[in-house]
Amino acid sequence: MISLNFPEQVNSAIKLLENSGFEAYAVGGCVRDRLMGREPNDYDITTNALPSQTAEVFKEYRCLDIGIKHGTLTVLFDGFPLEITTYRLDGKYLDNRHPESVSFSAELSDDLARRDFTVNTLCYSESKGLVDLFGGAEDIRNKVIRCVGDPDRRFSEDALRILRAIRFSCTLGFTVEEKTAESVLRNCELIDNIAIERVRDEFTKLICASSVTEVCEKFLPVIGRFIPEFVELYGCEQNTPYHIYDVFGHTLRALEAIESTPEMRLTMFFHDIGKPECRKTDEFGTDHFKGHAAVSAEKARNILKRMKYPNAVADFVCALIENHSLPCPKTKQQAKKFLSLYGEKLYEGFIKVRRADCAAKADPHSHDEKLENMKLFLKSIRENGECYSLKQLKVNGNDLMAVGVKNGPDLRRVLELLLNEVIFDRCPNEKSALLERAQEFYKE
Ligand code: ATP
Ligand code: MG
Repeated sequence: MISLNFPEQVNSAIKLLENSGFEAYAVGGCVRDRLMGREPNDYDITTNALPSQTAEVFKEYRCLDIGIKHGTLTVLFDGFPLEITTYRLDGKYLDNRHPESVSFSAELSDDLARRDFTVNTLCYSESKGLVDLFGGAEDIRNKVIRCVGDPDRRFSEDALRILRAIRFSCTLGFTVEEKTAESVLRNCELIDNIAIERVRDEFTKLICASSVTEVCEKFLPVIGRFIPEFVELYGCEQNTPYHIYDVFGHTLRALEAIESTPEMRLTMFFHDIGKPECRKTDEFGTDHFKGHAAVSAEKARNILKRMKYPNAVADFVCALIENHSLPCPKTKQQAKKFLSLYGEKLYEGFIKVRRADCAAKADPHSHDEKLENMKLFLKSIRENGECYSLKQLKVNGNDLMAVGVKNGPDLRRVLELLLNEVIFDRCPNEKSALLERAQEFYKE
């Protein structure tokens, strides 16, 4: 019998249920991931024990019953969170979202049949080994996403599965089986019925996958259901010496080249979303996209808001997009000026964005040296504690007022002039020198 090397806590929790006379298995994503040699995100256990019986078995442990309505008890088993759910049978689906009712079942097969894809129906326990009622293991071997049962029916029950199909295709590197793929495209309008938060969470996982370009091309109409602006990138040519892909191809290759965090992936996904609107072709047939960074930032802002991303995420992403085509600072003084305007987080983000942006252009290394220098500037600025912000300046508003500068706009202006003097090495960051210079400015 195969062993999937589950964490000891998972095996022990299953044994505890078995020793009380119940059936219990690890199920779904965690079995799929272990079979593929991947680290699961979370561990789910399915059992014929009713929620109250599960609670009794784990009464010595901390339990959270937030999901109890759906039959789920979360047990903190030696500090390890396990979601334990009673075998479920979903009732009729009438709204493309939720079953009208859920009932508990005594049959494992009922519980597995309600799951979305064959690769997500696998179960495992140390005593029974792998249980595979829907051919999930073979589909994993062949790297295939296939609906359990009739795809049209399964997608109309819960349209989020449409997005999950393409999300798993990206994250697992699987192809969507033909009938399932046709059904995804045929039914993609149903996504309109899904709460945007659920769409957002699947979309975020999708764009964080290592490889997304092919899947997004094949299933572009699905993404177009909730980001119609993105469809415009497809076939938007860039006849310039710098580009080799249309905006769609460039965007997704740039996305794949950046680290896999939601913020950085969202930045790349939307960094050129304003290009179709800004495209102008000159008399020589060369394309220009003047002002596209600002337009992209504005469009991204609307989309992120519509998709209910947190404001802090939208703020950072849009700031990066708005500034993504600024010239790189070429000297340490220019680096300090950049830092004074945008701060360290944006400075470091800019380097990553620019590197990824270049990676998807004709010459992937065109900016290597400039970007490496930007890193070195920051390192040295930090090490020497060099001043680039008003906070670090050795005089403040009170000091200036004490030598006669009036409170108000003048005060701010003088402080900023002083900071500039320090950044460009025209005045040392020392109180007496700064006050002297302040008085000169103020007289002017
Ligand atoms: P991951 O956690 O890696 O994102 P997962 O497959 O574990 O992937 P979860 O969202 O954690 O996905 O769901 C756990 C299991 O519940 C799935 O493997 C699947 O069996 C089932 N499932 C989840 N969402 C649905 C759904 N919308 N329709 C049908 N079954 C679902
Ligand atoms: Mg999971």
